[in-house]
Amino acid sequence: MSWDVLAGLLETQKRRAMSGDPTVTLAPVSDTIRTSMPICRLCLQDRPLVEGHVLSEFLYDDLYDPERHKFLELHTDERKRNVRRSKGLYECLMCDGCDNRIISRYETYASQVLNGGVEIVTRDEPDRLVVTQLDYTKFKLFQVSLLWRSVVSTRDEFQTAIVQTRHAERMRQMLLHEDPGEPHEYGCLVMIPQIQNDLRRRLIMPPDPIKVGGHQCFRLLAGGLWWLYMVSSHTHAFELRDYFLAKNGTLHLLRETASTAFIHEFAAYLVKNPTFPKVT
Ligand SMILES: [Zn+2]
Repeated sequence: MSWDVLAGLLETQKRRAMSGDPTVTLAPVSDTIRTSMPICRLCLQDRPLVEGHVLSEFLYDDLYDPERHKFLELHTDERKRNVRRSKGLYECLMCDGCDNRIISRYETYASQVLNGGVEIVTRDEPDRLVVTQLDYTKFKLFQVSLLWRSVVSTRDEFQTAIVQTRHAERMRQMLLHEDPGEPHEYGCLVMIPQIQNDLRRRLIMPPDPIKVGGHQCFRLLAGGLWWLYMVSSHTHAFELRDYFLAKNGTLHLLRETASTAFIHEFAAYLVKNPTFPKVT
């Protein structure tokens, strides 16, 4: 099966689920794909798939209750239950080679950048934190991998992560061939939320589609940071492209301002939600 066919099926499946079509449910289609199409989403080879985290497990480290090693999954959709989980969201998406050798290489590096373990240089400025000496290839591909894995996931939590087939395929090729592309390709603005460090590191929000300056974007909250991905064919003209990770290893982490305070909207919604913080 070609990637185009598989991607088309996944996209159709996600769109149907989002449209609320009562005759179409997500699970049976997912099961069909898993049993009749056990191909790795990255190399497209018919190999045994391994269970892996859709978003990197290390991003969940600060979410766990230290005593019970569980974290809370909260929903703004009243039809869904808030639950305690002992493990991040996972799915059989890739073969062992792709998950544990290709993707994990990018993840290991990003984990060391965010949590310590690799040498980087930071400079604190009023409106931003400037990080230099990053490995462009590894960190860029880590960024791309978070969005790509969300796109190919069939889990409910990632149903809004839909991109055009050609974008999904380009990201797959980049990850598979260790090709970070140009800085503007799936460029990501990284922002530091206004809320306190200990709280923001304890929140994860799967990719959520928004429009910024006419560009299709996805915003993801993880690792204490906002990751705002630009997914369009004209990002080379995006006015804030200089804030994307540059080939020289420089990344500007913008401090969130009132005009970009997405987290406040989300927090306010949770507080208003009558089911919050009900956990089952
Ligand atoms: Zn594979």
